[in-house]
Amino acid sequence: MSHCKYHPLTKAQFTCPHCDIDSCQQCSHESSELGSDSVCCFICKQPLHSLLGSEEMPPFWRQLNNAFRYPLNQHSIAVIVLSSLLSLSLYFMPLLAIFSLIIITKYSFECLEATAHGKQQAPDINRAYGGNILFIKLLAVILVAIFAVYYSAIYLGFGLALAVGIFALLALPACAMVLAIDDDLSEAINPLKLLQVIASIGLPYGLLLLIIMIMSSSVELINYMIGNDFSVINLLLQSMVSNYYLIVIFHLFGLVVFQYQEALGFYTEQPLKQTAKRLPANITLAEIEVLVKQGLYQQALTRFQKATSSNPQHYELVEGYFRLLIALEEKQRLGQFSDSYIQLLLDHGRQYQVGSALAQIQAIIPEYRPNKPQLRIEIAQLLYDKGAFKDAVFQLNGFHQEYKNSPLIAQAYTLMAKNLLQIPSMKSQASKYIQFANKYIVNST
Ligand SMILES: [Zn+2]
Ligand SMILES: [Zn+2]
Repeated sequence: MSHCKYHPLTKAQFTCPHCDIDSCQQCSHESSELGSDSVCCFICKQPLHSLLGSEEMPPFWRQLNNAFRYPLNQHSIAVIVLSSLLSLSLYFMPLLAIFSLIIITKYSFECLEATAHGKQQAPDINRAYGGNILFIKLLAVILVAIFAVYYSAIYLGFGLALAVGIFALLALPACAMVLAIDDDLSEAINPLKLLQVIASIGLPYGLLLLIIMIMSSSVELINYMIGNDFSVINLLLQSMVSNYYLIVIFHLFGLVVFQYQEALGFYTEQPLKQTAKRLPANITLAEIEVLVKQGLYQQALTRFQKATSSNPQHYELVEGYFRLLIALEEKQRLGQFSDSYIQLLLDHGRQYQVGSALAQIQAIIPEYRPNKPQLRIEIAQLLYDKGAFKDAVFQLNGFHQEYKNSPLIAQAYTLMAKNLLQIPSMKSQASKYIQFANKYIVNST
């Protein structure tokens, strides 16, 4: 079981084949551009593979009861009956009987594939027709196996031919899995590929073979009980029993693929199990968290800048951007952003945070003062209330020069005088500012 790279205690739900990173749902992007069910990587923006499900499902040998119930639905039963009826044509039109095989083979492979993708329901009956190249591929696989045994008997002797034959038989389930998932004939007859599949599954593969053997012998037993007098009814019943077991077996193959998907390098494209979709701002925050943990600071800053300018009232975004700017000591961007950050603190009733924010900014930009006169006065007032008189004076110093003709000059210098009165060494200057303020009040009235 793998864990999220960014949350080591959280189980990973996705993996990025491009970045080779496993991530949890929080650290993955439910991209709307890729379609409603797709999830993509925050770093490379490419679709992620789902890891979910294989650990949640009990192993295939504990699901045998359910496996026998798998074909008990109208679609599978219809396929079983249809294929069995077609097999009766063996009596009068042997060529037609091949369609019986085509339909049940195609449908069984569909069951394998659907199960491998984590679907619990058997596929639709329509899946039994169309695109029957699969049957030809299966035929080709069987022919290859027969030829392999035949030529090893001629050139390598009986013993080796027997070994080849046994391997072909034992590898048949692996071959069906490769064929259903890769749909690649050359892979399906490649002994190395088959060995690799068997090795990835390990001992449970032997268990699977055992289950198949028991099932085949029960088919024999049932057929024996039905009777072998070649009557139409008996043939129909026997065919139905075999078809039923074939679907169960291919469903089991699918369960094996699903269970060992990671080892087999096969990933299910499962729909996102997210009940409530995240808000865009929350997705952005999750994305930035990933970028920061990856050390992609400039990308994270750019993302923050874009998000905060389009969503300037979103407290978490703005706060996050500010913290990152401080942590990275980004002088230039911090200078551009600090005014709106302080404004947001005031808008959100977080006056108590302004003092420490100002201190953090001034640790990086010692000469920092807000650009807007109104904001500068508000900060000075807060500093005065806190008793930080010298800092308030610093904010208001030279106000009339910077904001010529501003209607706020009187207010600024009244406040300035109040602060100066509190600083013993500067007390004497207070009266000068009061006069100044009065002059502006007179002027403006
Ligand atoms: Zn995570
Ligand atoms: Zn990626």
